[in-house]
Amino acid sequence: MNLILMGLPGAGKGTQAEKINERYNIPHISTGDMFRLAIKEGTELGQKAKEYMDQGALVPDDVTIGIVKDRLGKDDCKDGFLLDGFPRTVAQAESLQSLLKEMDESIDYVLHVDVPKENLVERLAGRRICPTCGATYHVMYNPPQKEGVCDNDGSRLIQREDDQAETVKNRLEVNIEQIKPLLDFYHNKGCLVTIDGDQKIDHVFEDIQSAIEK
Ligand code: ADP
Ligand code: AMP
Ligand code: ZN
Repeated sequence: MNLILMGLPGAGKGTQAEKINERYNIPHISTGDMFRLAIKEGTELGQKAKEYMDQGALVPDDVTIGIVKDRLGKDDCKDGFLLDGFPRTVAQAESLQSLLKEMDESIDYVLHVDVPKENLVERLAGRRICPTCGATYHVMYNPPQKEGVCDNDGSRLIQREDDQAETVKNRLEVNIEQIKPLLDFYHNKGCLVTIDGDQKIDHVFEDIQSAIEK
């Protein structure tokens, strides 16, 4: 099964991706996670991506498409994959189409996790992540068992740099502008499913399961 999780920053893509990965055992490919890893490792890609991420801007299409192309070519994607945060522009979606064609693959579902814009700032401000395993928490809506500490490995949770107030505003603006034509693109291809993301995390996941098991 080849899936795309689409939605504005804070909609809950990463949170649902963890659950989909656990339940269906397909690799979770998050371009944001790949860029953060590259930054942590101090690679050239990381240095380039950081310039844009720090401002809440999108990393240029050629860079982003390049890393996704490499990743989808890996063996673990042969039995399906879950893209999270990619594509984010129509140019990326078009490149993905040609890439999939070369691979003789196609997208089964684009799951649009839809959350009212007004809720996103609060979701992003309260987000905490584990620097070791990448797990995502929320101080109010999805707190760890012990405050500030990852349930999986005991690491101290951190706030993403781009979840600070100033960057959030720009990220939301950029993504709101980009998402509409992308939703139209996949609606026209007949694979777009809208999921109500303004429910409890487990309910959102139940709706995703019903959509893809239909
Ligand atoms: P995205 O990957 O789309 O940017 P995340 O999955 O990181 O979003 O979620 C953003 C924040 O909102 C996180 O702190 C997460 O714990 C929280 N969150 C995710 N889903 C829900 C939900 N259904 N209700 C409330 N909070 C949620
Ligand atoms: P995310 O983790 O999905 O919220 O992404 C964090 C940041 O990484 C974004 O604000 C962008 O700067 C960059 N990024 C992630 N995915 C993409 C993409 N598909 N295209 C361009 N930039 C991206
Ligand atoms: Zn952890």
